[in-house]
Amino acid sequence: MRRRVLVAGAGVSGRSAAEALLARGDAVTITDASADRLAALASLQSQGADLVAGLTAPPPGTDLVVTSPGWRPDAPLPAAAAEAGIEVIGEIELAWCLDRQSPEPATWLAVTGTNGKTTTVGMLASILRSAGADAVACGNVGLPAVDAVRAGHRVLAVELSSFQLHWSDTLAPHAAVVLNLADDHLDWHGSLAAYGAAKGKIYDHTTVAVFNADDAWSVHLADAARSPRRIGCTASPPEPGQIGLADGRLLDRSDCAGADAADGVVLASLADVHPPGPHNAANALAAAALARSRGVAPDAVAEGLRTFEPGSHRSVLVAESAGVGYVDDSKATNPHAAAAALGAHPRVVWIAGGLLKGADVDALVASHADRLDAAVLIGQDRDRFAAALARHAPDVPVREVEGGEDSAMLEAVHLAAGFAQPGSAVVLAPAAASMDMFTDYAHRGQAFADAVRIVLSRHEAVE
Ligand code: ADP
Repeated sequence: MRRRVLVAGAGVSGRSAAEALLARGDAVTITDASADRLAALASLQSQGADLVAGLTAPPPGTDLVVTSPGWRPDAPLPAAAAEAGIEVIGEIELAWCLDRQSPEPATWLAVTGTNGKTTTVGMLASILRSAGADAVACGNVGLPAVDAVRAGHRVLAVELSSFQLHWSDTLAPHAAVVLNLADDHLDWHGSLAAYGAAKGKIYDHTTVAVFNADDAWSVHLADAARSPRRIGCTASPPEPGQIGLADGRLLDRSDCAGADAADGVVLASLADVHPPGPHNAANALAAAALARSRGVAPDAVAEGLRTFEPGSHRSVLVAESAGVGYVDDSKATNPHAAAAALGAHPRVVWIAGGLLKGADVDALVASHADRLDAAVLIGQDRDRFAAALARHAPDVPVREVEGGEDSAMLEAVHLAAGFAQPGSAVVLAPAAASMDMFTDYAHRGQAFADAVRIVLSRHEAVE
């Protein structure tokens, strides 16, 4: 049946959704608040799409709205659609429905959580490919899920944001995990409970609920889901039903290990996991559990972890000089991620600051005060970091850098290098978003790497 569909939002996923709907023969209208963004989709007009800037309600006769994930449900357009009784879905739900209509639907393995999603789906796709599967990472991670479905990949390692989950109701992945949950995006969702409820939707129709036994929210959401099978992941030696860490190895004692392997099956060595750090071990355990739920063999888990290529700006060692490592974790855009980034190093000179999005940094500072040699603060909310440091780490030297962009980052790295001792790491783990000073976290990370290069070359020139 030819439907009249409104695609709301002309970003990457909006384009993919519109292309898929046009290919299906639907009548497609695309709208966006920005005429420039809409103009980027002008080529779709030749395929029959209507482009209309700034719609605040679906045109009469609309059967379905496919919304971009960033729209809050109370934004005028989704609210008007709901009022008119028109179904509103996201691009992920559209991908799921298209996939179910295909003669050979793909296997979906889904990942959400506040932090670690991209790393986990990357590890998972790598493991699945090591097992010989035609697998791809998609969703919130670059390749829209609609495109992955249309390309016919057999196994999808799907990264899902809370926004995408909010707009997906029938999604039924074979296995799914909530990695962790902490304050983030509360400005969109309104409360931690609402944010958690959106994340928990990933388990609504899943067969295997993988959960992080070390994270209270993950346990709570998996408990509420009542999926037919469950696999817990833990950084401790695993109990029956779990995959965990024992003697420097990833050990499977879930039902995937088989009834005759009561002591468990060794999947990989911790040395196969990179970048190093407890948070990436947690991501590797989750990826291994999702892969094992689909029958992947242990040696493919080890091989996939070894060949995994980590994403940029996630715990990347950009330089080492005079016994000091310089680590770019610009992707640590909230306090929970920054805690993981700092926790991977015994001694740290911390570069932090930016836009806090309503998050609280007191707990982060209090729990990591002991490992700080110094802190250098940048960005709009640096006063809030300074106040937390004064409260919880009064002996730690703190410097604040005013101003924006690359010159401030250069000054910050210069100050940080001055505090660093052999054996410590200068870590950019901002605990905050970047848009007050930079285009995005990648721009911020690049500014850090450039500044490190300049500062170290100056040092060498002096020596
Ligand atoms: P996401 O896709 O959820 O943003 P990423 O895999 O891109 O997650 O990692 C973003 C940052 O979050 C990393 O740079 C690191 O600082 C932190 N991080 C990664 N994995 C975890 C984890 N399991 N728990 C806490 N923090 C993590």
